[in-house]
Amino acid sequence: MTKQTITVIPGDGIGPDIIDATLQVLDKAGCNFDYEFADAGLAALEKHGELVPEETISLIEKNKITLKGPLTTPVGEGFTSINVTLRKQFKLYANLRPVLSFKGTKARYENIDILTVRENTQGMYSGAGQTVSEDGAKAEAMSIVTREGAEKILTFAYETARKEGRKKVTAVHKANILKSTSGLFLKVAREVAQRYPEIESTEMIVDNCCMQLVMNPEQFDVIVTTNLFGDILSDLCAGLVGGLGMAPGANIGEDCAIFEAVHGSAPDIAGKNLANPTSVILAAIQMLEYLEMTDKAEKIRNALTEVIASGDRTTRDLGGTHGTTDFTEALLERL
Ligand code: ATP
Ligand code: MG
Repeated sequence: MTKQTITVIPGDGIGPDIIDATLQVLDKAGCNFDYEFADAGLAALEKHGELVPEETISLIEKNKITLKGPLTTPVGEGFTSINVTLRKQFKLYANLRPVLSFKGTKARYENIDILTVRENTQGMYSGAGQTVSEDGAKAEAMSIVTREGAEKILTFAYETARKEGRKKVTAVHKANILKSTSGLFLKVAREVAQRYPEIESTEMIVDNCCMQLVMNPEQFDVIVTTNLFGDILSDLCAGLVGGLGMAPGANIGEDCAIFEAVHGSAPDIAGKNLANPTSVILAAIQMLEYLEMTDKAEKIRNALTEVIASGDRTTRDLGGTHGTTDFTEALLERL
């Protein structure tokens, strides 16, 4: 078997620390990857004068699989979000954001296992029709939903549910108000649901879904929704299992996949050895599953479960008193 090469983007803020921790974990688990490093975000702007250099694009394209730290997009005019740019450029139409309860966190719930499947390239993130009137008194943006895009993400959600043995898919929408866009999404959701009679299909309006997630989250299995709702709901779901330090995400397209943490660069704790690397380690586990290296994925997940449950050298967001390096050390010892 040829050795798999992974493109690694350390990223900004806490990115380099948590990516470094993750690569140590992958190596220790015996994954035997080659890594090619690439810059993006502020790190790239300083070194190369652009947020996403051409070499980075080529490496993502060449190796197909990318593990990425959080990227900071400078605030202000002329900079579109780098994450959004990458998702569009590589047509990464599906964003899979699983959350799973781990014993030993400070989370309010114990039995959460929810997969949010977020449409990743359309909706309010299509970037279309953005205008601000000359006097600055009126701003406009367009939301785009296509039948093709909706069908693709909904089919992806059901296929993933089938593959992972999940029982229920909830399509989340706001078709009562957003009659055209959310209405089309819901219509297609009902059609796709018919093709999967063995999976329970439900639908829910997004505001109710927020309340239900807080009051009775155990009822959810797979949530499939449009871009902006998926963005917000997946942060909510991260909160159910102990916060952003516990939430990974996979961006999947036809050719390429980018695995990352749901959270951002956490500038408030950057460079302080305080970040919890779990989110990127869980993203690496998603990557291993995507590569069908399930035994390695299982091995790392078990070690992670043990460390968090025992509270051995855990980080502050998990209720511990330790930093990124100690936490990583505790994990490496168990591998
Ligand atoms: P960005 O603009 O890059 O998204 P942000 O200011 O929104 O940055 P986030 O990275 O989204 O910050 O983080 C939000 C909060 O969650 C911050 O208080 C941050 O410290 C905390 N946080 C995020 N990731 C982690 C992590 N891996 N470990 C511990 N705390 C984290
Ligand atoms: Mg953020």
